[in-house]
Amino acid sequence: MDDDWNARTKAVHGGIRRSQYGELSEAIFLTQGFVYDSAEAAEARFVSAGEDEFIYARYGNPTVRMFEERIAAIEGAEDAFATASGMAAVNGALSALLKAGDHVVAARALFGSCLYVLEDVLGRYGVEITFVDGTDLEQWRAALRPDTRAVFFESVSNPTLEVIDIAAVSALAHAVGATVVVDNVFATPVFSDAIAQGADVVVYSATKHIDGQGRTLGGVILGRREFIRKTLEPYMKHTGGAMSPFTAWVMLKGLETMDLRVRAQAASALAIAETFQAEAGLERVIYPGLANHAQHDLCTAQMGQGGTVLALDLAGGKPAAFAFLNALRIAAISNNLGDAKTIVTHPATTTHQRLPDADKQRLGITPGLVRLSVGIEDRADLIGDIRQALDVARGNIA
Ligand SMILES: *Cc1c(COP(=O)(O)O)cnc(C)c1O
Repeated sequence: MDDDWNARTKAVHGGIRRSQYGELSEAIFLTQGFVYDSAEAAEARFVSAGEDEFIYARYGNPTVRMFEERIAAIEGAEDAFATASGMAAVNGALSALLKAGDHVVAARALFGSCLYVLEDVLGRYGVEITFVDGTDLEQWRAALRPDTRAVFFESVSNPTLEVIDIAAVSALAHAVGATVVVDNVFATPVFSDAIAQGADVVVYSATKHIDGQGRTLGGVILGRREFIRKTLEPYMKHTGGAMSPFTAWVMLKGLETMDLRVRAQAASALAIAETFQAEAGLERVIYPGLANHAQHDLCTAQMGQGGTVLALDLAGGKPAAFAFLNALRIAAISNNLGDAKTIVTHPATTTHQRLPDADKQRLGITPGLVRLSVGIEDRADLIGDIRQALDVARGNIA
């Protein structure tokens, strides 16, 4: 692979390791262990393993390594460590970095499990967390302290799609010596330039756009080689959050088509947002790619596009939202996102059910809010499906 290839080429060819058979498609090395030529060779490898030398699949595996090198090349990161799920990646990145007494500043609008890792897990081990409104730079500035070790945020928040300024927050965090950890799922590796914009560590749930076809759970942590190999790898390899070789193979094949899928999904998401933005029966259409979005200019500068997910806030609250969900014929009611299939979720009663009402209100998770992850189906079919379901929902209000 050449370093100057574009991301779309790296997504197809990056990281490839061929066996002596010269297979075209990536091989699945479905093995936990590796055989050494001699006792001396085993001893030497345990002292220091070379580039193509593996010890145990919890530490690394050739198929997993292909995935890590490919996604690192696409993201413009020096190195990567693949994990069993997105949450293993979030937990690994933060737990490897932090110790008792450290302070973390995090955006309040977080995926429920990320909130659990910060508040319940890290809190229990003596890490102090300050939550801020991630879109308000003054709050970041006020919360950062000389003992702030890390900041954590989702670059585009779920499900209300607030965009956080990676460059500005990184500059503030770096001024106090904090490490910037970004959960970049909604930005996708296709629209991300997070490392160039200042993020130190980028985390993905590969379950989402990287697989993109709803098959496997996975995650990845990207960053500088020093961080990945010296700080993160010891934690990951001893605590067991490794990605399986089969999953890595699915993710490698997912990366090959990711650019095509994600660009088509984002174009459809924009078309849907534009089609329905002034629709009767909708209080709000939230999509960062729309000019009326509060962080539209930031979104354009940071990602170029609005991404694959939008949110519709139906007038008529929960009954209207449920009528809409139940009337959809193409979009499936499910809580994945980034999938080839269009997926619809009612956050208030599912993914964010456990949030206290006051927090839901503060985050804009209203009873009428529906999250739509746009797939690769025919755009006119999707618009038609949403239109007929909105008709049903409107009938339900009247
Ligand atoms: C899905 C998701 C995760 C968790 O990923 P899993 O693969 O489900 O463990 C973390 N952060 C965000 C923003 C997500 O959307």
